[in-house]
Amino acid sequence: MDNFRHAPGNAGILAFDRRSGTKSAGTTGTYGGRFMHPTVKPALRRGWRDLHTVQFGMAPAHAMVLGPVDPATGGLLTLFDGTRGLPLLRNEGRRMGLPEGHVDGLVERLSRAGLLDDATGGGPAADALRGDPAVLDRLRPDAASLSLVDREPGGAMRRLAARRALHVRVRGAGRVGAVLASALAAAGVGRVDVQDAGRVEPWDVAPGGLPVESVGERRDEAARRAVRAAAPSRPPRRGGARAPAGQDGPGLSLVILAPRDPLAVHAPDPADLEPLLASGTPHLFAGVVEGTGIVGPLVLPGDTACAGCLDLERTDRDPAWPRLLAQWRSGRSRRVPACDLALAVTVAGLAAGHALAFLDGGLPSSAGARWEVSPPGFDWRARPVRQHPACPCGPGEKGEGERTSDGEGPHETMDGQQPHAARLSGTWRAHV
Ligand SMILES: [Zn+2]
Repeated sequence: MDNFRHAPGNAGILAFDRRSGTKSAGTTGTYGGRFMHPTVKPALRRGWRDLHTVQFGMAPAHAMVLGPVDPATGGLLTLFDGTRGLPLLRNEGRRMGLPEGHVDGLVERLSRAGLLDDATGGGPAADALRGDPAVLDRLRPDAASLSLVDREPGGAMRRLAARRALHVRVRGAGRVGAVLASALAAAGVGRVDVQDAGRVEPWDVAPGGLPVESVGERRDEAARRAVRAAAPSRPPRRGGARAPAGQDGPGLSLVILAPRDPLAVHAPDPADLEPLLASGTPHLFAGVVEGTGIVGPLVLPGDTACAGCLDLERTDRDPAWPRLLAQWRSGRSRRVPACDLALAVTVAGLAAGHALAFLDGGLPSSAGARWEVSPPGFDWRARPVRQHPACPCGPGEKGEGERTSDGEGPHETMDGQQPHAARLSGTWRAHV
């Protein structure tokens, strides 16, 4: 048992015995007024540690142990595969000679441990997604993965279905941007639009992004086609605010800035991002700068550091920064950027992961940090980016002009607890 740990908040070993199975509350296993169809999360591989102890999951992050389990309960577990509703499972329990309440008790314990899913749960949007098997079949691995993040029965499908109502804009359709946009669409985000100028150059081409055949075409059109190819059937349009094609603002869940110009990744111009801050639109940076891949920061306007904070922090640290920046910005580079393909798709994938984590209601570590990676070591490093006291994005400008403390960043460390981040999570989940 030393070779794995349990998900935080789990009890670890869950004692369960057929004789101690207690009758649960009348609402157990009922979701939305109907009985759930319990299934032990298929994402976790099952194995018996001994005759009476079953382990769910191989990877330490999510593995759990259930025991002691008598043979009848073990047999009952195999029936938790999502094909039977609770009444049928209770009948099976009786047929196997298990005491009254045993099935409900098992459901409750598995559910509390985060091991149980509901094959019919997740609400009306999830039902609609189930009605589209071609789409759902493609998303099954994503649903399984979400089932490990969301411990509630039916939670994974609820989150996956919610993605279909979201609108994300990706600015930049180079090696990173086009792959990233396709990844988001393929992961179930309902509307992903891509903005860029110019025509596809041979070095923009990447698997999953702009195809070889698109060289010479308009970048934005070619990228949109790649996005459609990644997610051929689109979800039905829903009502509500939608951002007009040319501007960012209400209706957009997230804007991702994945510019082809390395300078725009390295040192994003705060003036360009003012409309996103003013409209309170969350935005995430991703790109490659001279062989270094960058993901972050994820800017939650007013709550986490923005491009202006980044710029001010650099000026504090390096007096020559403004002079260098002025030189870099003065000339337009026509050089082909140093952006190797593996790095580009790595950055695109990781940025898509951070984006989806946020869209799903979580708070990824890029809120308040930039992740950097470069070959040949490919070791990821996080650099905290804190809200700068002189930046107008901070809390001092939002309220009555009163600032509580200077330099207080959203993350004190990247590897420890993030109380501020945890607090933000709820706020921004509501926003999305
Ligand atoms: Zn700022």
